[in-house]
Amino acid sequence: MAHTQEDSPMSDAPLLGWNHVPNVPIKVSPFFSWPLKPLDMIRWVWNSWFLISEKLILVGIAFISFYWFQPPLEETRTLAFGWIAGIYFRNLVLMTLVAGGLHLYFYTFTKQGQRLKFDARPLMKNGRQFTLGGQIRDNMFWTLGSGVFFWTAYEVLMFWAMGNGYAPVLTWLATPVWFVALFFLIPVWESFYFYWIHRFLHVPVLYKHVHSLHHRNINVGPWSGMSMHPVEHLIFLGSVLIHWIVAAHPVHILYHMQYYVLTAATTHTGFEGLIVKDENRLKLGTFHHQMHHRYFECNYGSLEIPWDKFFGSFNDGTQVANERMKERRKRIMGA
Ligand SMILES: [Zn+2]
Ligand SMILES: [Zn+2]
Repeated sequence: MAHTQEDSPMSDAPLLGWNHVPNVPIKVSPFFSWPLKPLDMIRWVWNSWFLISEKLILVGIAFISFYWFQPPLEETRTLAFGWIAGIYFRNLVLMTLVAGGLHLYFYTFTKQGQRLKFDARPLMKNGRQFTLGGQIRDNMFWTLGSGVFFWTAYEVLMFWAMGNGYAPVLTWLATPVWFVALFFLIPVWESFYFYWIHRFLHVPVLYKHVHSLHHRNINVGPWSGMSMHPVEHLIFLGSVLIHWIVAAHPVHILYHMQYYVLTAATTHTGFEGLIVKDENRLKLGTFHHQMHHRYFECNYGSLEIPWDKFFGSFNDGTQVANERMKERRKRIMGA
């Protein structure tokens, strides 16, 4: 049982075989532990929103997309080549800028060297398991070929549905509180949705035919995040369909989709963050998901809601958790 292992002397020793291990045990959202720790809760919300953070940048990108690169709902009411091509092109550029930019910075020009890099090994240049013969080419192929296609298709569907009144639309003026709240709630919904579809994708038959494509990446880079089988893109991005029920503004649809797609790139960066003047200024990858790629049987979710903790699949990056994971794996294999 876990509580006997807790007493073991090696409890907080860092894991072996990694170049960089953040402060472990990994911290999850404090909103789900008892007794409540109000200060930790304030710090969590503050750190994940009000420092220069990924989420804030994403809200900014959603508004820029909406004001300058988005056709009005009167136009999206009718499917037409022009505006759909515009959305596709916008998404293609956005994906390339984010994943390509991070890749150039961290891997091509190695601006940060090995600092804050979780896994010391380089990305795999060649390998027969990869489409087009190499990890990066493989990842770009599935991201740009299939990922951007499904991303665009879901946006087109939602804007068409909103334009025609099939999906409920809300406005800033009518419901300002809910308008703002949705920016906080979408990542929570993402955490819930992602955990469950991800566990589902690890059911052996689906893993073999679908999810194993994403797991070709044992060590990950920014292009790995959205490198998925088309069926996985279809399921993963289907999260946005909740807005057939939950009213939203078009800017929330943009944010919802961009949150999924662009954080997939950032969380797979392979680095814990971007260093500016010797400090980690922008949190990027999570050791949590990095471990999922190396060990498989742990950390299916994200840190927004600790689903992995609730269901026993949490590896917090300590030796104890690692031993527990190995035990669990043995049990599954032996069963
Ligand atoms: Zn997986
Ligand atoms: Zn992944």
